[in-house]
Amino acid sequence: MAERSETESRKLLRRLRDLLAEPGAGQERLDRITHAIADSMHSEVCSIYLFRDDETLELCATEGLKKESVHKTRMRLGEGLVGRVAKTSSPVNTADAPAEKGFRYMPETGEEIYSSFLGVPIQRLGEKLGVLVVQSKRARQFSDDAVYALEVVAMVLAEMTELGAFVGEGEALSALHQQPVLYRGATGQEGSSEGRVWLHEPRVMITNLVGDDPKKELARLNAAVDQLRLSVDAMLSMTDGQDKEQSQVLEAYRMFANSRGWMRRMEEDIARGLSAEAAVEKEQSAARARLETVPDPYLRDRLHDLDDLSNRLLRILTGQGADTGAEMPDNPILVARNIGPAELLDYGRKLKGVVLEEGSVGSHAAIVARALAIPLVIHADRITTEALNGDHILVDGDQGIVHLRPEETVAAAFRDKVAMQAAAQTRYASLRDLPATAKCGTTIALHMNAGLMADLPSLVGSGAEGVGLFRTELQFLIRAHVPKRAELAAIYASVMAAAKGKRVAFRTLDIGSDKVLPYMKRVEEPNPAMGWRAIRVGLDKPGVMRMQLQALIRAADGRSLTVMFPFVAEMDEFRRARQMLLDEVQRERQIGRKLPGALEIGAMLETPSLAYAPKAFFEMCDFISIGGNDLKQFFFAADRENEQVRRRYDLLNTSFLRFISLIVQRCEDTRTHLSFCGEDAGRPVEALCLAALGIKALSMRPASIGPVKHLIRRVDLTELRHVIDTDCEAGALNVRASVMDWLARQDI
Ligand code: PEP
Ligand code: MG
Repeated sequence: MAERSETESRKLLRRLRDLLAEPGAGQERLDRITHAIADSMHSEVCSIYLFRDDETLELCATEGLKKESVHKTRMRLGEGLVGRVAKTSSPVNTADAPAEKGFRYMPETGEEIYSSFLGVPIQRLGEKLGVLVVQSKRARQFSDDAVYALEVVAMVLAEMTELGAFVGEGEALSALHQQPVLYRGATGQEGSSEGRVWLHEPRVMITNLVGDDPKKELARLNAAVDQLRLSVDAMLSMTDGQDKEQSQVLEAYRMFANSRGWMRRMEEDIARGLSAEAAVEKEQSAARARLETVPDPYLRDRLHDLDDLSNRLLRILTGQGADTGAEMPDNPILVARNIGPAELLDYGRKLKGVVLEEGSVGSHAAIVARALAIPLVIHADRITTEALNGDHILVDGDQGIVHLRPEETVAAAFRDKVAMQAAAQTRYASLRDLPATAKCGTTIALHMNAGLMADLPSLVGSGAEGVGLFRTELQFLIRAHVPKRAELAAIYASVMAAAKGKRVAFRTLDIGSDKVLPYMKRVEEPNPAMGWRAIRVGLDKPGVMRMQLQALIRAADGRSLTVMFPFVAEMDEFRRARQMLLDEVQRERQIGRKLPGALEIGAMLETPSLAYAPKAFFEMCDFISIGGNDLKQFFFAADRENEQVRRRYDLLNTSFLRFISLIVQRCEDTRTHLSFCGEDAGRPVEALCLAALGIKALSMRPASIGPVKHLIRRVDLTELRHVIDTDCEAGALNVRASVMDWLARQDI
């Protein structure tokens, strides 16, 4: 950039800063700003449009257009050139605006006489706030330098609104961080709660955007970057190359911290008049904007690295730590972009809810939230840029909805719903010690799913008959290193002790796919869900599985032991895994240790192929448990992690029900005990249908046991079977409508 325009933009920035330092009401100040920008950019018009709501922009201040149109002229996102800038988050620069595609003439503004148009988005860290426009009569394309200067000014404006400099005047401005916002995300863990926002990583507040002395700012930036590099090097030397994954992440960090391109862009921003921290933030904003458009997960990870690095740099420059000294409010609801399982466990049951921008149903954080029974909503897009510590917030984990700063009527309706749920829970509690016996006399065994010690108290509270699925990988996921055998044995022993003789089905390590151990070498796979996971890893690299089996045998210490192997696709895999367990028992016998009093070995049926395995397989299994989450994903070829498809197929689809019936039949023929432990077992209507098809044991989240039992006790399963069969024979695609109708006819 030419020296002349550098000084121009610096002058403009300084002028802006001085303007802001002057006293005055918001609107008056906005007007002065538009005047100063128009003057400095040698254009007749400068206007500021701000979002009034997600879809509408409003003209909030102008120099050059008719004053009467201020706070009156509005356009929708995508409408006209201003709307296009806002929608695409990129500048529009044209010498002949009326000839531009999508141009919309606003007669009340008197803009018809202006030919050139330059509009840039006003945004802060990816949050869209509005559009800044300059226009002039003379037909000219604005230079790249002018575009740049206007972008920097827009960034300064974004910070000013952020700081509440104008709050109180323009409606759109005063709305920032104050209005109610509704987020439609996805369910990570069911349940509802009301509380106050607690930001996991509070934002760094930047107060000085404009640098007086570029040399000084540059020196500050260099010193901070040096410090950053040293801290990354120190982290790297601490891992000592042992922890490969972590080293890789840190190597990537180091690469960015030493990147010339990154430094050069920040140096240029400083030369144009920004302070060191504003230059860092500008780069961070650009990285966030790119994040939204990059589909490649590897690149996205790298952009995240850059984002984290920028945060560290900002903290060094501003001296603001992650711990701001703010006090955690009562009923805290954690709001974060993402969070690791160990960090979430650190907060523990203090939290009333968790809201994440990212995450997935199978993510580690989701697993822990489930274990702690904290409502969790994931995919609440950009909530961290909108929420402030202490904001009132309602989390509806059942629907995947979050209300930030809700209206009182919304809060009241929400409280009614929570009260109704609480009343239902009391009703369910009265059934705790009664069996799930249907009117036809059939009793269904209800078990719970678990994975952490923290789950065990629910065994008594829920009335579960046992633990139908203990996901052992959780103990591995929440650690930074592979747990030792003795450590595992101690954990399993306390689980068995807490179960007080009730059956616990320990599932061996199910890693791979969505469950990646932080300390395991990551194998890049095109399709990890169908890749090297679970029992496949255990058979190919038997070290960890053997160690786990030994830990289980030792933990049993004379008690009964139930082990099940996940993701078995063919008979031989089960045969080999089973033999491995028997070999370990034999070895323990040889060294004179106490053996399990009884041993049950089962398989999870999670791949359609296993339903067609030879009869010998069913005979070899002491029991089979259908892992409906995986089975459904492979049956329908619908990724359980993909929001676009994961709700598309229903358990009550007749093809799937026919398939379940086939499994039931094969287990009945061989007298193999059959249970179902996917998420569908915890949904009352689905559970009812599974029971009607002949599945006598269901394993689910503890909170689902009450509702499922309540429903089973009110129906006749033989009648329901008849409803399902009639529908299937009639060629229905799905039995849900008929089942709901049948329930309604009985006032259920
Ligand atoms: C399943 O696949 O249904 C199951 C219970 O296992 P997970 O959800 O842990 O894969
Ligand atoms: Mg599974």
